[in-house]
Amino acid sequence: SVQKKIGIVGSGLIGRAWAMLFAAAGYTVQMYDILESQLVTAQQELDKELHSLEEKGALRGQLKASEQLALIGFTQQLEELVRDAVHIQECVPEQLQLKKSLYSQLDGLLGGDTVVASSTSTFMPSLYSEGLQRRQQMLVAHPLNPPYFIPLVEIVPAPWTTAEAVERTRLLMLSLGQRPVTLKREIEGFATNRIQYAILNEVWRLVESGILSVADVDRVLSQGLGLRYALLGSLETAHLNAPGGVADYFKRFGAEISAVSATYGPTPDTQAEGAALAEIARQCEKLVPLAELDQRRATRDAFLIHLARLKKQF
Ligand code: NAD
Repeated sequence: SVQKKIGIVGSGLIGRAWAMLFAAAGYTVQMYDILESQLVTAQQELDKELHSLEEKGALRGQLKASEQLALIGFTQQLEELVRDAVHIQECVPEQLQLKKSLYSQLDGLLGGDTVVASSTSTFMPSLYSEGLQRRQQMLVAHPLNPPYFIPLVEIVPAPWTTAEAVERTRLLMLSLGQRPVTLKREIEGFATNRIQYAILNEVWRLVESGILSVADVDRVLSQGLGLRYALLGSLETAHLNAPGGVADYFKRFGAEISAVSATYGPTPDTQAEGAALAEIARQCEKLVPLAELDQRRATRDAFLIHLARLKKQF
């Protein structure tokens, strides 16, 4: 049988990760890029990556690496990419003007029911789809890096995105083995970055005020809270932490939560190149020198393979 075709626009880090996820689930994938050299690199990287995962026993899906690779094709024609695609996953660099001009190009090429999902980490879908003919078929499907081992996808509709486009995207993500959450409406930072930034702000304040070192503040997550959060969210964590469940938890600790929260202070200016940032950078670079970042990323990804396996059993 002919498999449904998925189009991927942009063949960089995230575009390649999506190609692997779709091919693992047996979809036919076509990748498009403005740079031919990027497509050549993508093909080489996919070959290397899929075979290496196969050797480690970490390849997803039922197909062999060579079979998955055979499902992935390449084109430099946007028109060809769009033709017969049921879903297009956009993965171009995070620049609003670039996304806008790409979406207005796509707008003229799209068929009746092709959904276009952006991988954007920061742009609400209304920012780039406003005013387009086919804007009701456009939304955000935001993955976390590396998507192959982190199943969350945030689906974010614009005010004009149809419920059908949202639901089809949700089902598509489930068919990949990803774990989508659907925001009822768009909001700055979606959910992941809103929560991530709340943590970053408090971590920053604790280091800036000299209460904890960078290594120790990170330990609070990596050796503490993070172990719970790798299994449960913060509300289920609370639910399990009081004899009578979550209602009991907030009855017992609600006053304490409010009292501590009142002491947080203003949002730090993390952009200013002041003493706080210099100190955080100094300590981070002592822990992991810049020259060793790639090695550390590789170690993280290697352990995420184990964690992903464990998570499936929980
Ligand atoms: P990248 O720079 O690795 O890849 C971008 C690719 O897009 C390049 O191959 C480039 O040649 C191509 N490109 C540029 N202009 C194009 C155009 N007009 N048409 C087609 N292709 C074009 O970027 P990335 O890290 O893969 O990020 C892509 C998107 O994914 C961004 O929106 C980013 O916010 C999002 N995202 C990234 C991460 C991450 O950790 N890198 C995580 C989640 C989401």
